[in-house]
Amino acid sequence: MTTPIVSVRNLSVTFVGSGRSVPAVRGVDFDLYPGEILGVVGESGSGKSVTALSMVGLLPETAEVSGSVTVAGTEVIGAPEETIRKMRGRDIGIVFQDPMTTLNPVQNVGTQVTEGLFVHDLAPRSEATKRATELLREVQIPDPQARIHQYPHQFSGGMRQRAVIAMAISTRPRVIIADEPTTALDVTVQAQVLSVLKNVQEDTGATVILITHDLGVIAEMADRVIVMYAGRVVERGSVEDIFARPQHPYTVGLMSSLPRLDMDLERLVPIPGQPPSADNLPTGCPFNPRCSIGRDREICSSEEPPLIEIGEGRETACHFPDEVLGLAAQLLEMRAADTS
Ligand code: ADP
Ligand code: MG
Repeated sequence: MTTPIVSVRNLSVTFVGSGRSVPAVRGVDFDLYPGEILGVVGESGSGKSVTALSMVGLLPETAEVSGSVTVAGTEVIGAPEETIRKMRGRDIGIVFQDPMTTLNPVQNVGTQVTEGLFVHDLAPRSEATKRATELLREVQIPDPQARIHQYPHQFSGGMRQRAVIAMAISTRPRVIIADEPTTALDVTVQAQVLSVLKNVQEDTGATVILITHDLGVIAEMADRVIVMYAGRVVERGSVEDIFARPQHPYTVGLMSSLPRLDMDLERLVPIPGQPPSADNLPTGCPFNPRCSIGRDREICSSEEPPLIEIGEGRETACHFPDEVLGLAAQLLEMRAADTS
């Protein structure tokens, strides 16, 4: 196999302060291979954003970070601010949920999308107009020559996020981190922005980490998936395998709550209960209180299952992975009955 461009090893992040310590990320491992889209999926609070922020040195000072993150061979954790600043926006482009956290309201869009090029000395300023126009064209913003002179408030939400994507790819980074890039957008615009992201990924050959709470987005976009729950990776595999043979009950729960156009909304089976809060994790498997397989089992309430290998590139953190297959089969049957 090729060498990964990003390697995350045993990454843990704990927030400390006011006499409490909150373990937000607990021993996360993953590799990212050149040119792939890795989907990271999980409910709100599962540690997805904290994982992403630790990769680009953007965590607050209250965060205690351990483990290792290497990007193109350079260690990020504990690296001097100068090293990380050079890497951020040059080797790693970032797209956050809300484009207005990235865009400056009082600067025109053209200036903003090319800023990284000049900060990192990748183009002469004399090329500013040309580069800005090219970048907006690349993310399929119509009439780019006029649009570069406009301000963010003159753009729609979807266009703003396209501008942020243009900014992220301006330096031709090897890695793009997109954290819920379409969550704040209208449903009708989401698909367009995802398609822009996929196009630029194909054109630039960048590797993408696509973070979302929406398994539908993963199905559409990703090559491989990691499923996060309570700060850990609980399942890993290719998109095909995860959807055909999920082996963590949480993944099955996410699948069963996937809305489908041909299905009655009331008949969806959401995952019962709420994800645990990071500062109050249950003993044993953190998913146990919501799990139909583990609820009455001693081992599930006493021992947190390690992530074990169940096949090539496949891992799950469940004590009863084979029973999960039965659960998934039931879901598929229900689905089939619903559509017939
Ligand atoms: P996700 O992106 O999966 O929704 P996050 O990574 O943002 O989740 O958060 C993971 C956990 O870390 C949550 O319990 C959240 O409350 C906590 N957390 C995130 N940021 C901070 C912070 N700055 N201080 C304290 N706790 C935080
Ligand atoms: Mg988040």
